[in-house]
Amino acid sequence: MSYVIKGQDGPWELVIGLEVHAQVISRSKLFSGSATEFGAEPNSQVSFVDAAFPGMLPVINQECVAQAVRTGLGLDAQINLVSRFDRKNYFYADLPAGYQISQYAHPVVGGGHVEIELSDGSTRRIGVTRLHLEQDAGKSLHDQHPTKSYIDLNRSGIALMEIVSEPDLRTPEEAGAYLRKLRTILRYLGTCDGNMEEGSMRADVNVSVRRHGEPFRTRCEVKNVNSVRFVMQAIEAEAARQVEVWESGGTVEQETRLFDPARGETRSMRSKEDAHDYRYFPDPDLLPLVLDEAWVAGLRAELPELPDAKRARFVAKHGLSAYDAAVLVADQETAAFYETVAAGRDAKLAANWMMGDFFAALNRTGRSIGDSPVSAAALGQLLDLLADRTINGRIAKEVFEAMVETGEAPASIVENRGLRQVTDTGAIDRAVDSVLAANPDKLAEYRGGKDKLFGFFVGQVMKAMAGKGNPALVNDALRQRLSA
Ligand code: ADP
Ligand code: MG
Repeated sequence: MSYVIKGQDGPWELVIGLEVHAQVISRSKLFSGSATEFGAEPNSQVSFVDAAFPGMLPVINQECVAQAVRTGLGLDAQINLVSRFDRKNYFYADLPAGYQISQYAHPVVGGGHVEIELSDGSTRRIGVTRLHLEQDAGKSLHDQHPTKSYIDLNRSGIALMEIVSEPDLRTPEEAGAYLRKLRTILRYLGTCDGNMEEGSMRADVNVSVRRHGEPFRTRCEVKNVNSVRFVMQAIEAEAARQVEVWESGGTVEQETRLFDPARGETRSMRSKEDAHDYRYFPDPDLLPLVLDEAWVAGLRAELPELPDAKRARFVAKHGLSAYDAAVLVADQETAAFYETVAAGRDAKLAANWMMGDFFAALNRTGRSIGDSPVSAAALGQLLDLLADRTINGRIAKEVFEAMVETGEAPASIVENRGLRQVTDTGAIDRAVDSVLAANPDKLAEYRGGKDKLFGFFVGQVMKAMAGKGNPALVNDALRQRLSA
């Protein structure tokens, strides 16, 4: 097949737009006071409003609106001071009202954008069309009984933000980068926990293919994909399917599909419904949502430093590369940890330690930064021992591994294990002498012009000193002796 999935050079180009459903962090639901905690006993967090008892009236939760506005501000988007709630009518067993309250024609947030970073170091700006508030539905449980389905309404009425992207994404990698970046922004803002495994963030993936320079072709929508990896796989599978349809003379029909990760393919679920199928109309139980400009300005003033700004600051203030800075700002805890380690120290060295030995140790021990066996203060102390030359770089790695294992402070590890760097030139000279005496053949080769053996001698001297020699002094001493 001539189709190149990841490149832009093949005859077929991918066009992707994502609709992300992000569950709002809020103690209570969008239109009721029920709790929202994940994992509660089924149907234990359901008010009469959530169960759609007749005559119950929705009351808007201001905190949910604030979260949507914060998110809009974080996406650099337009905040619509007047928006409206509509009823989106459809029948489903876990939707007791027979409609979902959603914002259709007038969303609370308009156009914005997300800046994504790609593996080749380039960045792209992806348009966000809109963000609107809506209710989540309940959950149908089909695996609890041989012939019956159970309904859990705990999720019914929880606030969701639907964040719709422009069809600006062109590769699975870009789609993955967009999702990860969006998730990072939501987490910084504290508006959604971004936990895709628990379903608090899910994506509908719209995919079409076209030949370069053509207008857009018909898209298909792959519903409810619940991990970044699956989104990328679903795009590849769906694009490959569409290319095959077009190339064999067929026509791609607009439809809603499901991704089957086990088989790596998408399957048709239903033909695509249009807006008029839902018979949207303004919800007569709710007034238009009118926001006060000063209230929005107050939310804006309280926004945290966001990932792009933090990354730019890390580059400017700490002299980090854009790549290193992007890795360190990927979550707030890592960024804060880094800033504690770097404060008053060599910031570049601090970044190298975090991205090298420190992340490796977290990986190996299966810990997250929140329960790291080495605190930011302790890692900083280790860098101080390096900076004041108490230990050399090689020993620092050994001390660090001991810190990971024992949780002990670096200074006491150095003292208890006698790991101080040897700067006594007399001791270094003695080690040099014994190494040269023990290797007369190598010495002769070196003198005969085999310069490369210098490294061998350095290694032997360090070994003789149990790794504790000051590398610069060892080099000096050897150079002096060998040129004598
Ligand atoms: P709906 O609500 O019916 O799914 P929208 O107009 O809200 O339709 O668009 C949904 C998503 O589809 C958006 O993310 C948009 O970027 C994307 N999209 C629109 N046209 C195309 C296309 N031709 N190919 C791929 N994605 C598209
Ligand atoms: Mg859609």
